[in-house]
Amino acid sequence: MEFDTIAAISTPMGEGAIAIVRLSGEDAIPIADKLFKSIGGKKLTKMASHTIHYGHLIDTKTGQVVEEVMVSIMKGPKTFTKEDVVEINCHGGIVSVNRVLQHVLKNGARLAEPGEFTKRAFLNGRIDLSQAEAVMDLIRAKTDRAMNMALGQMEGRLSKLIRRLRQEILEILAHVEVNIDYPEYDDVEEMTHKMLNEKAHFVRDEINKLLQTSQQGKILREGLSTVIVGRPNVGKSSLLNSLVQENKAIVTDIPGTTRDVIEEYVNVRGVPLRLLDTAGIRETEDIVERIGVERSRQVLKEADLILLVLNYSDMLTVEDENLFEVVRGMDTIVIVNKTDLPRQIDMERVKLLAKDHKIVTTSLLEDQGVDELEEAIAALFFAGSLEAGDMTYVSNSRHIALLHQSLQVIEEAIEGVEIGTPIDIVQIDLTRTWELLGEIIGDSVHESLIDQLFSQFCLGK
Ligand code: GDP
Ligand code: ZN
Repeated sequence: MEFDTIAAISTPMGEGAIAIVRLSGEDAIPIADKLFKSIGGKKLTKMASHTIHYGHLIDTKTGQVVEEVMVSIMKGPKTFTKEDVVEINCHGGIVSVNRVLQHVLKNGARLAEPGEFTKRAFLNGRIDLSQAEAVMDLIRAKTDRAMNMALGQMEGRLSKLIRRLRQEILEILAHVEVNIDYPEYDDVEEMTHKMLNEKAHFVRDEINKLLQTSQQGKILREGLSTVIVGRPNVGKSSLLNSLVQENKAIVTDIPGTTRDVIEEYVNVRGVPLRLLDTAGIRETEDIVERIGVERSRQVLKEADLILLVLNYSDMLTVEDENLFEVVRGMDTIVIVNKTDLPRQIDMERVKLLAKDHKIVTTSLLEDQGVDELEEAIAALFFAGSLEAGDMTYVSNSRHIALLHQSLQVIEEAIEGVEIGTPIDIVQIDLTRTWELLGEIIGDSVHESLIDQLFSQFCLGK
């Protein structure tokens, strides 16, 4: 495929002091060459691929030096887009990088649309659709764990598994075809049924497994919505502050995030917590009195994690007992705070009320017990399979939706076989499952869907 040359600012992850203008396309190197004056005077077009050069960017009109830059040239197809790629590194801030971009655009490059670099990589066959989406996740990844997950997906684990499932379905379809072509052979029909059952169940189970990982994937990407509850004065605000102070607060820059909801986003040992600060959610001191146990449960239902705070230096009250009732069945950690003061609370009663919930004692004033709390949070969410890095997480909402649809259709196929539906009807469901799975890896998507997907990317990727 032939495309024009595009350019955009492509700031590296973690936003260092260096900013990059990236060019991709046939004229990437000639355009850069017009602007660049290397120290030795050698032309970029004469340089070897995958080399980096120090020099100056020159205003082609006035001949004056614009910036001090490092230019890397990478010739296709061994590049991200499979096209010739040039990266102009400049160490100034946003002003100087913008200036460099303006000069690049004046000399023949076109400003890239959001996600256009990744789109090219996809269209040039460098990556498949789920890998392209993994790049998007990577750009947005907010914790190391989420980043590892995105990387794993980029390596094509999900694609590989989906291909395998589609292969299984193709094999069934091939058998069904034989059955339809030679209906007079009884044993063919029997064989078809047996194989259909086995393989369709296998595909269904695998889709199910993938879907089970999707909740974890979502949590890793979006953070666990966490609510701190407790009576007035037990130390809720102090807890929030110490969690935010001890852990790197992560800046969210997902487009479309509602601005009226302020979120404190922290990474607790790899568990991203989204501490909600909507009215009446974070500060729930009198929520139970205000709206009663049942409605409080409704309000807190959406939370992934509840931190229930009690006062060590005070006796348990009806309000405390009500809160235990409210959080019943939810992922909760009980925090008994103010252990620096004399004990008044009945710890035996707390244990009884807490049932399976983990209890942590803290003195937030003296900075005691926060480590144990963080450990408890990590243990709650990284118990079991989540830690075992060999799983394929599905975290992309489009993938999840397609998997749900595939599951539904293959279940219809399985049911059809069991109640003796004509095989050619079952064949339709199987073909549909095959198509739906294909959409995950981009094998049967329409141009408009592709455009829609790639327009979500950050500029410069
Ligand atoms: P909230 O009303 O539940 O949000 O409680 P705050 O976090 O505002 O704390 C209420 C008061 O208790 C403040 O004066 C805090 O300084 C104090 N406090 C919080 N944690 C501790 C602790 O561990 N020990 C002691 N002695 N005081 C604490
Ligand atoms: Zn408070």
